[in-house]
Amino acid sequence: MPELPEVETVVRGLAPELVGRRVVAVEVRERRLRGGVATTFAARLRGRTVTGLGRRGKYLVATLDDGRLWLVHLGMTGRLTLSAADVAAEVHDHVVVRLDDGRLLTYNDARRFGRLAVIAASALAAETAAGVDPLDPEFTAAMLFAITRGRRTSVKALLMDQRRVAGLGNIYVNEILFDAGIRPGRRAGVLRSADCERIVHATRAVLAAAIRRGGSSISDYRDGLGRPGWFQLRHRVYDRAGRPCGTCGTPIRTRVIVGRSSFYCPRCQV
Ligand SMILES: [Zn+2]
Repeated sequence: MPELPEVETVVRGLAPELVGRRVVAVEVRERRLRGGVATTFAARLRGRTVTGLGRRGKYLVATLDDGRLWLVHLGMTGRLTLSAADVAAEVHDHVVVRLDDGRLLTYNDARRFGRLAVIAASALAAETAAGVDPLDPEFTAAMLFAITRGRRTSVKALLMDQRRVAGLGNIYVNEILFDAGIRPGRRAGVLRSADCERIVHATRAVLAAAIRRGGSSISDYRDGLGRPGWFQLRHRVYDRAGRPCGTCGTPIRTRVIVGRSSFYCPRCQV
């Protein structure tokens, strides 16, 4: 599943190509994505120029010249790829946007959990239901400490709750908690200030490293220009159950927390 670093990688790859381009045609071949592609989608996008491209949590957010926003969420298997005009259509190419330079921006999604919409700028917070972005300066130890008070849920579940912290998924939360030396099952409400400091620091470090390497290449992740990511080569605990911890050699353990596999070193993480 694309996580924040993958989305950020797509944004950084596409921004220089897309900003300033005008949409000349929109073809919706499949409306049955998450929430359905609105019947107004194509008409709202056609003729508009993209004036900016950014990210909020796991949403790509393109600013349009009429002030509206074009949202893309990649769901589980979504890919947004820019290609030459004469590229052959693939199965699961659900939405194809033709740009004024002749190139195509194609949304492909085998499992169709992704979402495409054009919304009013004022609706962004409501539409994305997103908490603080972990790369935003407002994600601080003091803020994390505040949102963990009184919470009986695990620290892992809290970090994966998109309404609290937007964009962190299973892989990176496992890696972040290893980096911070904290077990994923630890109750959020008992974290100390120093623990929150370590989590915030680890979050920035792990995400920055993943973005530098172009995101993760698990499943069939590709960036906006069709290149695979490389971060999977560097996972230290994720999907490494039974293999030795790179720091202390203790076998990595796994357990299920809120329905997702968690991986941790029983010695390095307390
Ligand atoms: Zn260890």
